[in-house]
Amino acid sequence: MAVNAPALVWFREDLRLDDNPALTAASESGRPIVAIYLLDDVSPGVRPLGGAARWWLHQSLTALSRSLGDLGVQLVLRRGAAGDEIPRLVQELGAEAVFWNRRYGAAERQVDSGIKAGLRADGVEVTSFAAALLFEPWTITTGSGTPYSVFTPFWRACLSSPPPRAPLDEPETLTGWERNVATDLLETWELEPTRPDWAGGLREAWQPGEASAHRLLNEFLTEKLAAYDDERDLPAQSATSGLSPHLRWGEISPHRVWAETDLVRRGASSREAAGASRFLTELGWREFCYHVLFAAPDLATSNWRSSFDAFPWPPLNEEALAAWQQGRTGIPIVDAGMRELWRTGAMHNRVRMVVASFLTKNLLIDWREGERWFWDTLVDADSAANGFNWQWVAGSGADAAPYFRVFNPELQAKKFDPHGEYIRQNVPEWGTDAYPEPIVDLAETRKAALAAYDRVKRAA
Ligand code: FAD
Repeated sequence: MAVNAPALVWFREDLRLDDNPALTAASESGRPIVAIYLLDDVSPGVRPLGGAARWWLHQSLTALSRSLGDLGVQLVLRRGAAGDEIPRLVQELGAEAVFWNRRYGAAERQVDSGIKAGLRADGVEVTSFAAALLFEPWTITTGSGTPYSVFTPFWRACLSSPPPRAPLDEPETLTGWERNVATDLLETWELEPTRPDWAGGLREAWQPGEASAHRLLNEFLTEKLAAYDDERDLPAQSATSGLSPHLRWGEISPHRVWAETDLVRRGASSREAAGASRFLTELGWREFCYHVLFAAPDLATSNWRSSFDAFPWPPLNEEALAAWQQGRTGIPIVDAGMRELWRTGAMHNRVRMVVASFLTKNLLIDWREGERWFWDTLVDADSAANGFNWQWVAGSGADAAPYFRVFNPELQAKKFDPHGEYIRQNVPEWGTDAYPEPIVDLAETRKAALAAYDRVKRAA
């Protein structure tokens, strides 16, 4: 080992110091540490980030760079194809060890295993860790060794597996490298919108970074857990954790969320215990999305259920798609959701289901159009959860809602936003002449959707 040869920690979707096995292992290796974040928008098959995600990433990297800097470690920023840039940096630093936490998309896995093989052949030590999921996707299988396609038995199998490991504490000290490494300036990546700057609503709604992820978890467990089971479907209430973008970027680990929730559950009232179990089940859905993605890597672009390839989507109605995107369909709950999304980069889960059903069934627009729009506009846009949930609503996915379950947006609004509070928050002109008439007839379009679905049934 060369004197003072550094270890490289490659940060990807784990922008945190707490419970970061790669960082902890690098620290325990006794080598000085250099950290890198690489903006890779060129490796084949790696999906470029959407606009809202780019905004989030900018803030999150600023926070990570500051907290690593406080411990004396430099966060180096580079841009390019990982397969070129990581080995180049290893060589430039003379690094003898590289550490990272795993990713689960097929293209990313291919990139990572190529880099690992190349570096190892050069005598560099490379170690990867489980950090983003509670259960590694390949460890949970059915009795016959295949992946699960239904959530309930999947989650049962997870819960009867060895429990998730305890989270690792944030390192109190780290040793940085004595040399300063050339780095891009974050601003030059232009992750934040400028002309126009549409991110004002995002700034108001969110504070990216690890500290705020921990604060949200704390607030959720102390203030919201007891009501979670009853109120999580009510979009006007702030009844859910708001953790999804923080989990998406790995600013908090699911192990930390699991452990803290479990701790509260132990001494809790029965309402809190019910809330905790329900909340952990939601984390289970996140696990399931990755489990399905691992087995079906093109989840965001191909029907998981191939019989859906026979679905007779009509030619794309661009006008209807634009009305949906801009929240002017004349269906109040749909417009409220789409405007919330545009303003804040997020939308309540119940409303996500309603707008997705409306797009795919009442407008007969292919779920992939909706998936793409969400990918670009959601701060929590996630390669597993987005494709999975779109397909779940469309009926083409794993454990999906049957296609013939067409949400009636008016009934959904009555049930989950009975006083119209959520609608008024997002559609101030609702109920006035300025609000548009519905662009479709809900009953007629429902019938047309069911007729189209008959084609899939015949093909199945
Ligand atoms: P909470 O109720 O506090 O739940 C806790 C955590 O559980 C969430 O942070 C999330 O990580 C996980 N979770 C909850 N519900 C789901 C679910 N249905 N699928 C997967 N994980 C879940 N979630 C994303 O994280 N990224 C996406 O790109 C995404 N796209 C979606 C698209 C559609 C069409 C639909 C219907 C849902 C989508 N979801 C997505 C799932 C869900 O809407 C969000 O995870 C949830 O609204 C986040 O709010 P929260 O953190 O307050 O959730």
